Amino acid sequence: MGQIYRNFAAKSHTMSLLVIGSVAFDAIETPFGKSDRIIGGAATYISLAASYFSNKINLVSVVGGDFPVTSIQMLEKRGINTKGLQILDDEKSFFWSGRYNNDMNTRTTLVTELNVLGTFDPIIPEAYQNCEYLMLGNLSPEVQLKVMERIRNRPKLVAMDTMNFWMDVALDDLKKALKKIDVLIINDEEARILSKEYSLVKASRVIREMGPRYLIIKKGEHGALLFYGSRVYFAPALPLEDVFDPTGAGDTFAGGFMGYLAQSGRVDFDNMKRAVIFGSAMASFCVEKFGTARIENLREEEILQRVNAFIDLSQVDIDLTA
Ligand code: AMP
Repeated sequence: MGQIYRNFAAKSHTMSLLVIGSVAFDAIETPFGKSDRIIGGAATYISLAASYFSNKINLVSVVGGDFPVTSIQMLEKRGINTKGLQILDDEKSFFWSGRYNNDMNTRTTLVTELNVLGTFDPIIPEAYQNCEYLMLGNLSPEVQLKVMERIRNRPKLVAMDTMNFWMDVALDDLKKALKKIDVLIINDEEARILSKEYSLVKASRVIREMGPRYLIIKKGEHGALLFYGSRVYFAPALPLEDVFDPTGAGDTFAGGFMGYLAQSGRVDFDNMKRAVIFGSAMASFCVEKFGTARIENLREEEILQRVNAFIDLSQVDIDLTA
């Protein structure tokens, strides 16, 4: 724990993290209630979660003139640099709406209106050029590739998220992107579709042959698996009393994971294991309220308490000589 705490506290020595993905309006229905149009989007969740670890979060995305200035100010108040957030005054922001089923693990997408995202041309501000870590949130692989091409010096670590939809409509570009990244973060269903293997161990081999050295497979309320070489690490998910809205949990995980790595500046399997725990802790907060509400104002002590709960949950003392 000492190590984690020291790393976590040393925010000032952090590496810069460039985050790209959607910044959006969402409308969510769960068995517990319904939200109005609230702010969401993969990059919103990723950068909010990462902002607890690093004060050098650079956001690249696009919104329309309908996006509230107060929401951009909320991101800036968390130290997130929004210079790379394009605002197209005469257009509308990306809108997504989803309904969760009673198990809260599965959901149906009700509406996807691409709007500004349909023609998104990711412009990387000069000040972002020397980013050390890059998180490519779920977007078309074509845009993800463009971002990698437009960053002059390859970042120290490139992580990427994707979804089934892109496997169906843009598999060639997705495969090109996979060749260029270090870490792929996807869920179990996506891993099975991408690899055409049911066993996640076999799937992890097939996917890593496509490019990424590290693979994280998220299993929702059943935790996450980290694969590297012949090594596997499993992090449980915390059994929570209140799961209110799972939207953005995957992105929040990715933000906590990359934020922690950027802050500690070390990329190796053991540090990745810690990062998975921090990502899982951040995701466990996300689901407790609608949208981004819970992760807009967390205290460091709360995060550390959660991390400790994870450590307690996964520790086993077995005396094999007894
Ligand atoms: P997650 O629950 O982690 O899968 O992420 C949910 C977030 O992803 C929501 O806030 C949506 O705005 C965003 N989202 C949903 N579909 C897409 C899409 N096709 N492209 C980009 N972002 C999306």
